[in-house]
Order: sequence, then structure tokens, then C-alpha cells
Amino acid sequence: MLARVLDYVELDAEMMGAGTVVPEILAALEDQRLPLGWREITEKQLAQSEFFHMEPSVQGHAQLWKDQDGNPLDGQAITISWYWWSCGETGIALVSDFHAGRVLAYEFGCDHQMEHITSHPRYGSQISADQCRVCGCVSVRPESR
Ligand SMILES: [Zn+2]
Repeated sequence: MLARVLDYVELDAEMMGAGTVVPEILAALEDQRLPLGWREITEKQLAQSEFFHMEPSVQGHAQLWKDQDGNPLDGQAITISWYWWSCGETGIALVSDFHAGRVLAYEFGCDHQMEHITSHPRYGSQISADQCRVCGCVSVRPESR
């Protein structure tokens, strides 16, 4: 039954727009490597992330055996549940530390360098938002953080 659920999740990821994931990142996940920009985040960062503000564009489940260069990870494989937001060029992975009985959170993709903007060619001159200097994504967040 569990295998059927996992098959469904993977199939679902393909159908719901895996094409929106940055190709290098999708290739890494399919090759069971840590994706570009892999970095641990705090519980506070997770609480304030897209994870609780927006529906992900695509999500999946993976076991990763290799670092970004393809070398085996120390110890054993890590099991991740991952989520991708195409508008933000970034993803979040929840990692199960099975034996310790806890969950760790990671980000991957662009490590945004946000700056406040008040105009944008696509959104006009009356917006108040944040834009990433690296990937150009625009984020309008709730006023109270
Ligand atoms: Zn960015």
C-alpha cells in the first residue's frame, strides 16, 4: 500500500508540472544527489517560508545517496519530502531523521537576496513587494511577519 502511495506521489509530481522545476535541480533529485543550494534552515525560517504561505508548484519524495558532486554521503541515504515554488525558484525539503525521531528542514535552489521594491515592469508602479537580486522573483508577503 505504501509503495502505491509513493508511486502516486511521483506520478503526480510529473503530471503537475515537474517542468517548472529548474532543470539542474530536477536532474539532481532524479539522480539522488543533493540539489543545488542545499542548506539547512531553522524552525523560524521554515515558519516564515513559502511552505505556509503558498501552494507548491510541484512536490515529491526522494531518497538521496550522493552529495552535489555525486560522491556518496557519509553514513546513509537521507529521505526527503520536497516542495518547489516555481515563482520563487526555490524549494524546501523536510528530512526525516528516522532513528532520532525528528524532522529537519532544508532549502534548495536560489538563496534569495531580497530588496524592497515599489515598482516593477510586470506589476506596475504602485506595488510594495520584495524582489530577489539574484533570480528576480517578486514576493508579496503579509504585512505582519
Ligand atoms: Zn532568488
